[in-house]
Parts: sequence; C-alpha cells; structure tokens
Amino acid sequence: MNALVATSRNFKRAAKLLGLDSKLEKSLLIPFREIKVECTIPKDDGTLASFVGFRVQHDNARGPMKGGIRYHHEVDPDEVNALAQLMTWKTAVANIPYGGAKGGIGCSPGELSISELERLTRVFTQKIHDLIGIHTDVPAPDMGTNPQTMAWILDEYSKFHGYSPAVVTGKPIDLGGSLGRDAATGRGVLFATEALLAEHGKNIKDQRFVIQGFGNVGSWAAQLISEAGGKVIAVSDVTGAVKNAKGLNIEKLLKHSVENRGIRGFNGGESIEPSCLLTEDCDVLIPAALGGVINRENANEIRAKFIIEAANHPTDPEADEILSKKGVAILPDIYANSGGVTVSYFEWVQNIQGFMWDEDKVNAELKTYMIRGFKDVKEMCRTHNCDLRMGAFTLGVNRVARATVLRGWEA
Ligand code: GLU
Repeated sequence: MNALVATSRNFKRAAKLLGLDSKLEKSLLIPFREIKVECTIPKDDGTLASFVGFRVQHDNARGPMKGGIRYHHEVDPDEVNALAQLMTWKTAVANIPYGGAKGGIGCSPGELSISELERLTRVFTQKIHDLIGIHTDVPAPDMGTNPQTMAWILDEYSKFHGYSPAVVTGKPIDLGGSLGRDAATGRGVLFATEALLAEHGKNIKDQRFVIQGFGNVGSWAAQLISEAGGKVIAVSDVTGAVKNAKGLNIEKLLKHSVENRGIRGFNGGESIEPSCLLTEDCDVLIPAALGGVINRENANEIRAKFIIEAANHPTDPEADEILSKKGVAILPDIYANSGGVTVSYFEWVQNIQGFMWDEDKVNAELKTYMIRGFKDVKEMCRTHNCDLRMGAFTLGVNRVARATVLRGWEA
C-alpha cells in the first residue's frame, strides 16, 4: 500500500476517535510546505548527474519542524510526505517541542563516491538553506545519511547564515553532536521493548528476537538487546540473512558486517533467505529497515507475539487488522523509534545552551522520555478503548490539534 495512503488512513482513524472537527482534520493532514529541488553535480569522471531532492515540512504548531533526510533510490514525494506526517505525530508522542518534516534525495548512496555524496549534499543544502533553520526546520540523519552528511549540511548552511551547529542534529561529536545520539534510536527501541514486555509479565532475557535491518538502528538494537540478555536468533540486511537458534554473537556479527560491508558470509549461523526472515519463529519481531514490509501478503504467516516498529511505517493497515485478530501486540513506529528524535532534541538543546551533557545523562533522560511515552500511549488506549497504534496516534494528533487550536488556526 502507498505509504501516504497508509499513514493518512491511520491519522483519519485517530481523528475519528478524537471527534476532531472535519476542517481541523483537513488542516492537520495537509503539509505546511512541500519543496522539490533539482540537484545537478559533476561526477568524478567529469560527466553531470541530476538528482531530485525533497523536503516536506508537515506541521509547525508545536515548534520547529524536525526530521531526517533520506538518501535512497526509492525516495518519492508520497513517501517523503508520509514520513514528514509521521514525524509530526512522533515528536508530539515524545512530547518534545517540535513539528514534523522529512527530506530525501532519490539516489543510490552506495554507488556514489564520498566526494560525489559531498557535492550532492552541498547542492541540496544550497537549494533549501533559506527554508531550514534553528527555529524553523532542523534536519537529521535517516536511511543512507550519517553524521558526515550532517557536517556537510552544517558547513554549507553556515556559509550563508554564519556558524549554526543547532541547524542539524546527529552531527559528529567534534561539531557539537550529542553523546549517545548514534545509539539513541536503538536504545529507545530497547526501553520501549522492556516497557511492553513488562506489561505482559515478560522479560527480555526469556525472549527470542528477529531483527530486519542491520544499519544504524537495527545493529544498535541488536547489540543492546543482546547485552540485556535477549537472544537475537536471526538478522537480515540488504546483503543477506543469518539465523542461529542458539543466539547470534552480535559483537562478531557487527565486526563481520563492518569488515565486509554487510552480514553476508557470516559463519556464526546458517544463512537463510531474507524474504523468510519476517516469518521466522520468534517471540519479538523488530522491523528496522524499509516501510511496508509487513503487509497482507505475509501478515498471516508472522509467528511473533510482539512487533516493535524500529523502522518507519513497516506495517500496512491491512496487516495491522490481520495481526490484531491473531493477538499480536504491535508497538507503533511513532512511539517505538522516537528515541532518535528525542536525543536529537537533547542535541539541539545542548547546542543552543552551549552546555554539553555526559552520556549517562543523555541515556537517563532518554529512558525517562521513553517510559513516560509508553504510559501516555497506554492512557490513550484506555480512554479510547483502542490498540497501541491508535493509542499513539490519538496521543500525537490530539497534542498537535490542541496546539493548533490554541494558536488560532481559523483567522
Ligand atoms: N530520522 C529519524 C526518524 O525518523 C530521526 C529524526 C531526527 O532526529 O530529527 O525519527
């Protein structure tokens, strides 16, 4: 299902549960601003290449718009739109003073050299620099981008506006990045998983985990879960999938993945078809890669009892229905992966204050936010007699709606 259709469907269900006025509902759904830019760069061989870049600024009722920039060949306007909308609800669920935005460039970053990536990032920044800013829109890394990408954006932006570290988050530590930001989404996933399992009288130590994706989010989640005593029995990435019923050695898998640019060929388990990973027998399934991977085609085959959405919109609404009939508890993306943007907020606060925190403080604050978020979501589940997805959506949408009405949206 198209990502925008799926996200908007969830929003509309939440708006209905909240009894939102239809004009307000429409105004909340439509993005504030959609930017599309053409980025032409000279390739290393001297030829020219053109890429299309997007930044969708969805909503700013609760504060500056916030969200990552994705480099991926599947980036399209509808997907960026959906992801921007999800950021609006996510920052509201986390209760951090931001709105939502998302950006992306349709490209295959693995096929570009470092200097080509740098040129592309700088050209994109030149095209959007007057529309982003510390108090308007603050980008961050997402799929295919990293702290180095943020460093280039910061440098290019600063040529126009003066040195402004708080204009992006997820920066390298040497440029004002926050300790703990790198692991934050994965660590947030750990805290979210602990909260959900505790509610069901279970503990990470007696659960078997399957993780789809071994990039920044999936690898940190795998590492932290296995350190906490959880058994990670299968993992996949774009290069392949590996399974070991006794539990994979995540430290060795990480080393292999760094050295070989992927998990393929890892000898600490048996290699399996990546397409079979989601339906492996396990207790907790963590999709930490692309959107739409759990859909009506495979939902019936899923054997996990819990799904923690570390990726953005990994589950289609049709799959949601099937899984809820099977009694699977799904912790939705806008809560489960909010650890990343929460620590982005801490980074922005530290930059603005000019006072940096130690890592223990970052992790302790993150834990507080994740635990509070879970309680807030559960409260909405009770109020509206709904599942966790609608609990999170009603929580986020209601906070944004309240801010919108208070600011006066009809004048
Ligand atoms: N790209 C991440 C997300 O989808 C982080 C966004 C941010 O830190 O602004 O939540």
